[in-house]
Amino acid sequence: MLLENGRYTIQGLSVEEIAKQFGTPLYVYDASKIITQIKTLRSAFTGVDLRIKYAAKALTNVNILRVMKQQGIGVDVVSVNEARLAMHAGFTSADIMFTPSCVDFEEIKEAVDLGFAINLDSLPALEKFGQTYGHSKPCAIRINPGVMAGGNYKISTGHIHSKFGISIQQLPQILEVVNKYNIHINGLHVHTGSEVVDVDVFLKVADILFQTALHFKALDFIDFGGGFKVAYKEGDKITDIAALGKAISNALQNFSKTYGKPLQAWIEPGKFLVSEAGVLLVKSTVVKETPNLTFIGVNSGLNHLIRPMMYDAYHDVSNVSNQLAATKQYNVVGYICETDTLAAERDLPEVREGDILAIHNAGAYGYSMASNYNARFKPAEVLVEDGKARLIRKQESLEDLLRGQIL
Ligand SMILES: *Cc1c(COP(=O)(O)O)cnc(C)c1O
Repeated sequence: MLLENGRYTIQGLSVEEIAKQFGTPLYVYDASKIITQIKTLRSAFTGVDLRIKYAAKALTNVNILRVMKQQGIGVDVVSVNEARLAMHAGFTSADIMFTPSCVDFEEIKEAVDLGFAINLDSLPALEKFGQTYGHSKPCAIRINPGVMAGGNYKISTGHIHSKFGISIQQLPQILEVVNKYNIHINGLHVHTGSEVVDVDVFLKVADILFQTALHFKALDFIDFGGGFKVAYKEGDKITDIAALGKAISNALQNFSKTYGKPLQAWIEPGKFLVSEAGVLLVKSTVVKETPNLTFIGVNSGLNHLIRPMMYDAYHDVSNVSNQLAATKQYNVVGYICETDTLAAERDLPEVREGDILAIHNAGAYGYSMASNYNARFKPAEVLVEDGKARLIRKQESLEDLLRGQIL
């Protein structure tokens, strides 16, 4: 979203007009931003065989997945259902990496049958994999490197108290199981957390993977995970993608010499590809002055965007309808009957009842984490592509709330 000549636009289209045409609350995604992000990654990792696997859980609308497919990247899925959505969007099984956490082994078997790359994250799963497939099917191993990093403890996944991956300290047990069944390990994987700013963290973890990789003879790839930090507000620290790409590419090239063959570099960005591509448009339903604060109530809330309440995430807000007015301080709150703060203590151009507000960085973990709490409908979604805005999901209706209920 850009501010051009006093109005907010996406690919030249007026955001206010989009809100009028499709109604609010509304998720709006800009395909061109996604494509720019993919290009940024491609130009940062050079001299290695880079495979980008979009972490689909960030945003799973099939039209978004189709944009990814058209750009020639793959997907990382955490459930077979996400994979089915990806296939619906045109991905083939060869494009798909299955990285589940603590799922029933039946689901892993299903993923093997569907032909996905498999990534295992526990010793019992590895044992069952060996028992079931022996050497006949390859799999990767998700390593927990024992490194604390990430924007919030809830999104840190690589530390020693995290449920994710098999602890690097359990390498002897991993090797025992792999040798017992002669399992074909084709990749090593790590995902240290979300919103990891520091390139050195990625490099430190890469080193741990390289040390580990020497114990496996038939690797094809090292998967460095996702978690690249984007800007949520002006001046925010972000992962320096150019520096990251250069550092990881160099490190992998060097390691490949030691290893004896070139290994592919896999990465799994979720937020990096879609966060900034999305805004959530909401309408101010009430301006509520209290002795202490002025609240702006909006026709949305934590049921549509849970990140502020769940992760204390900061999401920028713009008043799309009155951008030139003098600013006042507001708390923007949702309509859910819980504490439901979307943005606290924000200076915004005066907000009037009926104004349209845009909540930024809503592309990742917005719609995909939305719920029907308070029996509210999930909002519609619009994709702006080639200068045109198109509805890609209808707002829900009462039928959706009743579907599956038995009277
Ligand atoms: C969620 C997830 C990602 C993506 O994380 P982002 O912070 O959105 O980049 C990558 N890999 C795995 C295994 C994940 O679970």
